[in-house]
Amino acid sequence: MNWKDFCLLLMEDAGKKTAPASGVYPASVISHGEKSWFFAVKDHGEKFLAAVGDSLPYRSLKGEEENYRGTFIKKCPMDPHNRDVMAEYFPFMNPVNHRGTDITIGLGDRLGLASGGHIGICAERKVFPVLAQQSIRELNLTGRNYREVLSDASWAVFTRGFKDGFGADGDHLKSKEEVKMALDCGFTMITLDCSEHINNGVYSYTKEEIRENYQKIGEDKRLKLEEKYSGKSIKIDGELTVDFPRDEFMKTLLVYFNAIEFTEEIYRDVILKSGKKVDFEMSVDETLYETSVRDHYFVASELIERGVEVTSLAPRFCGEFQKGIDYMGDTDLFEKEFTSHFKIAQYFGYKISVHSGSDKFKIFPAVGRITGGKYHLKTAGTNWLVAMEVVALRDPDLYRKIHKFALSRLEEAKKYYHIKGRAENVEDIDSLTDEELVRLFGEDDARQIIHITYGLILSEKDEGGRYVFRDAIYGLLFEYEEDYDRALELHIGKHFDYLGII
Ligand code: ZN
Repeated sequence: MNWKDFCLLLMEDAGKKTAPASGVYPASVISHGEKSWFFAVKDHGEKFLAAVGDSLPYRSLKGEEENYRGTFIKKCPMDPHNRDVMAEYFPFMNPVNHRGTDITIGLGDRLGLASGGHIGICAERKVFPVLAQQSIRELNLTGRNYREVLSDASWAVFTRGFKDGFGADGDHLKSKEEVKMALDCGFTMITLDCSEHINNGVYSYTKEEIRENYQKIGEDKRLKLEEKYSGKSIKIDGELTVDFPRDEFMKTLLVYFNAIEFTEEIYRDVILKSGKKVDFEMSVDETLYETSVRDHYFVASELIERGVEVTSLAPRFCGEFQKGIDYMGDTDLFEKEFTSHFKIAQYFGYKISVHSGSDKFKIFPAVGRITGGKYHLKTAGTNWLVAMEVVALRDPDLYRKIHKFALSRLEEAKKYYHIKGRAENVEDIDSLTDEELVRLFGEDDARQIIHITYGLILSEKDEGGRYVFRDAIYGLLFEYEEDYDRALELHIGKHFDYLGII
């Protein structure tokens, strides 16, 4: 039976909706009222929404309508317009807030194809997924926009019939305009990147320079803050003491003062004014120096004092959180500091957020244990790497071409991402058999190189203006959708195993 016959069957007898029809995603079948049906189909190399039966959503959907054996049916593209129509009638397709939810996972999906696998594993382990999560840098490098990112996630939710709720995170936004844009597109989480407002120069100031700059901060504010912090030892729940020796207090203030002001401004002028419920995350992770426990306390305490409601805060932890590979650093020290950071977050009532959380298996057990299962963790690049692994398994020739291209353009990609991976440490791909290619995904250098060159890989065009790799990658992952889903379920599942999510 084809999808068109399935439409007729649904109209005849809704009870038969489980009858097999080739290409139909069974979990997607849904009705509006009693005589209108919608479902996702994969047929003849494309994926689309099928609709039958007169109803408001049916009429609002754009697509090709045909009279099939006396019944009007519609074949509609899974695009942003049709997403908006469907989400109006089927609210589970809209992202929602996650404040109050224990474990939340950000699952950046650069291709817009990973949400199916993500939903599979998150539904199984009861983890709240933030399926749409992209930074402006990622949008620029992949040529997508927030409307499309949200649309792709929403269609995956529809296709899977996933009704437990998902989030959408405008990740690492740096300006009012960017935050506004993400909110206008329906994003429910905003991660404000304060790195441009953090004064890293302070770390190399002389004592004199610190004093000079300190005096430049308005007296009103300065004296108030002095009274609160300078020379004080602040006890949190009798367990953690945060010291503010005068010199250190001045330093912390100079490094973070503008970031706090900036965060408050964005919160008041954009987040509050939007009237929307927003999961607001402040991030200071992409900066040169790690966030000390003192810094964290100061920033949090000031934000709360100013009435800024944060759902989560992302400090820069000790050690290195490089893209797509495991944690590098002293795990004992990490545990010790992470415990303090967590206590501060708990004290002020928000969640600690761990960024660049792809493949950080060495620290996952500590994150799960110390927080008692209350945290936000962001992954992104690893989902792209899993996609490339599927390419290597299914089309070794295509993978070889991508791999060589990535190596040849590595220096360019390094402008956007800092990695330790080096081309000379990667095995010569010509010496590997097709079966051995997958081994590259277990090696740090190769992982990082494929990880950071995604933008160049996806945007490369030939002289005729045709994509060199993009269409082939999308085509392959379309064909082997189940492989990609399963590989993601396994790989993100491995993250969950280490985090102690059973
Ligand atoms: Zn980050």
